[in-house]
Amino acid sequence: MRNIRLGSLLGIPILVNPTWFLLLAYVVSVLGFQVFPDQFEDENVGTYVVLSVGTALFFFFCIILHELAHSAVARLYQIPVKSITLFVFGGVAQITREAKRPLAELLMAAAGPAMSAVLAGIFFFLTWLVGRDADDPLDFTLFWLGITNLALAIFNMIPAFPMDGGRVFRSLLWLITRNQFRATLIAGWTGRLFGWALMALGALTLFGLDFAGTQQWTGVWTVLIGLFLESAARQSLAQNRAINVLNGFSVKELMQPDPPVVLGDAPVGLLARGVLDINPIVCYMVESGGKLAGILSGWQMRQVPEAQWDTTTAAEAMVPSARLHPVGPERRAADVLMEMEDGDLTHLPVVEDGRVLGVIGRDRMIMALRQAGMLRTAGT
Ligand SMILES: [Zn+2]
Repeated sequence: MRNIRLGSLLGIPILVNPTWFLLLAYVVSVLGFQVFPDQFEDENVGTYVVLSVGTALFFFFCIILHELAHSAVARLYQIPVKSITLFVFGGVAQITREAKRPLAELLMAAAGPAMSAVLAGIFFFLTWLVGRDADDPLDFTLFWLGITNLALAIFNMIPAFPMDGGRVFRSLLWLITRNQFRATLIAGWTGRLFGWALMALGALTLFGLDFAGTQQWTGVWTVLIGLFLESAARQSLAQNRAINVLNGFSVKELMQPDPPVVLGDAPVGLLARGVLDINPIVCYMVESGGKLAGILSGWQMRQVPEAQWDTTTAAEAMVPSARLHPVGPERRAADVLMEMEDGDLTHLPVVEDGRVLGVIGRDRMIMALRQAGMLRTAGT
């Protein structure tokens, strides 16, 4: 399902995933059938519709501001933010990679709930300013937005990774133990436990056990959120294991030494035909005027449709060296993988004392993970 672009804030695209309309419908129906009719009896249907849709949209704008706060801190630490997306479980900022230091992660994670708390404060202040008349729809709406933002700040601070509170928890463990792997392991398992607890709570609600007057069917929602959190935590733990494996390798150990050098005007067909079948992770250094002009890997060649193989040159299909930065042979593979994700790259040249020793690619790292029993043979 394709995301819909709403616009952008601080240069960050704001997207809506089609699944978000489910959440919008849920929030509007809770407001329109329950919250507002309970508070203001005997209003006409039109009033309920306007109030609930308006309040729901304001609420989602607050969620975007929450994500924007995460994104702003990420940018302060030079971590690119691709977009902010509203989806069925709320909002998410696509922050390209994790922070390299615990303090950065702490601030990045805490910024969202802090923003929600500030918004709650603003809405409570506005409620007080307009007089806090519970019979007045505007007063009540402002108060409701205050309570909801406060609840959002509190819920997000539950120390279940990868929720905000779980990230804060991990960064604190990381600060204390100085061991990112162990910190993620503990926070990740806390996240899985919390996911299971939510699923159990949802199931109990669904079977009629009453929690604070919630309706039975809302149990479905709780189970789904629990499932989502549990699987996100499980993925984080898998990623953590992968990083740990790659931390055991230097770039030199995984690089392809002395890759074949080709000229920029060589057609892709000549370099790809027959070769990609035998060696899908083939990688060429493209030279022009005696200098490294770029890197052409199997991945880039496969981006060119086969019908255009003979009319496209290596120089046209390669990743130009202006986009690449050299890495040293002793660097940790896990760090280099992070840098590749940052720049959307698949390969980087390995250089020592100005001499190109080889090329390191994501494919080689995936092979290392596979050998460590981390991945099944099918995959990227
Ligand atoms: Zn958040």
